[in-house]
Parts: sequence; C-alpha cells; structure tokens
Amino acid sequence: MPIEIEDPKDQGKKKAKAAEERKAEAAEKRRKKIAAAAGAAEDEELVGKKRELWPLIPAIPVVLAVVLSLLPERVDVNEIELERSRCVNQLRTAAAMKAMKAAELKLQEGDALPQNELDKILSEVKCPGGGIIDVRAVGYEPRCSLHGTFSEWVQEQQNIGYWDKALKDNTN
Ligand SMILES: [Zn+2]
Repeated sequence: MPIEIEDPKDQGKKKAKAAEERKAEAAEKRRKKIAAAAGAAEDEELVGKKRELWPLIPAIPVVLAVVLSLLPERVDVNEIELERSRCVNQLRTAAAMKAMKAAELKLQEGDALPQNELDKILSEVKCPGGGIIDVRAVGYEPRCSLHGTFSEWVQEQQNIGYWDKALKDNTN
C-alpha cells in the first residue's frame, strides 16, 4: 500500500479552500444579521410615530455638544470684558483707599504706602481673573498684571466708541 504523501501544492489548495469556506460562512452570518436588523426596523416602524422619536434621544447630548462648541467664542469675549470691568472697579477702589491713606499720612507723590497699609488694601481688592494687583506709589494708578489700569481701560473704551454709543443710547 503506497503511503499517501500530500503534494505541498494540494495542501495549499486545501488551505485556500478552507479559508474561502470560512469567508463564505462569515458573509452568510453577516447577511443574516443585517436581515434580522432590517426585520427589527420594519417591526419598529409598525409600532407608531412616537416610537420613532426614541432613537433620537441618544443624539441629544451630541446636538447640545455641537451647539455649545459654537457658543464659547462669544461667551469668552463677554466673560473677558466683564472680568476686566470688574477688575478696573477693584482698581478704582484701590486708588481711592490709597488716596485716603496718603492724605491721612501726608504722603507725597512717589511715596510708597507703608506695607501694612498696602496689605490692608490688597485684602480688600482682588482681580476676578487672578491677576496680581500692584497698588503702586502715591500719584500712580494701581495696575493689574492682567488688565492694566483704569485709565487704560477708559482709553480703550473711548477708542472703540463705547462712550459715544452710551451717550446716544441715553439721549434717545
Ligand atoms: Zn485684573
């Protein structure tokens, strides 16, 4: 009886055939799955219009996220402006406190307030954006490391016609 030795070529062919069979099987499984899903979708359609809205619920957070992603730029600009106007109000308070203390202590322009007085002012005024406020010497405006001085702010508002608009709004 001859010993059957498989030709390596045949072996390769067998392997290829097996692989093809597996592929066909997988394709059939997928087809069945899709058919089942389609059947389910058809059933769903029969349930009524209300049910049709339910699949949209998972989409709501996505829609919200998209809407919110469109908003930040405007919100940020307003937030920045608001923060700055709050900060310059703090700077005005600091300037008023400093002027009062300077008069009381009969300080001259260019004199610095005593440290304990500076500390008192700095415990009262804070930059809402986390900037560092420098009270500065008598005769010099308090300044925020993030927002500059009150005068700079006023100057910028004038430059963009802020006061012109405000006057118009008031006289109308
Ligand atoms: Zn500030």
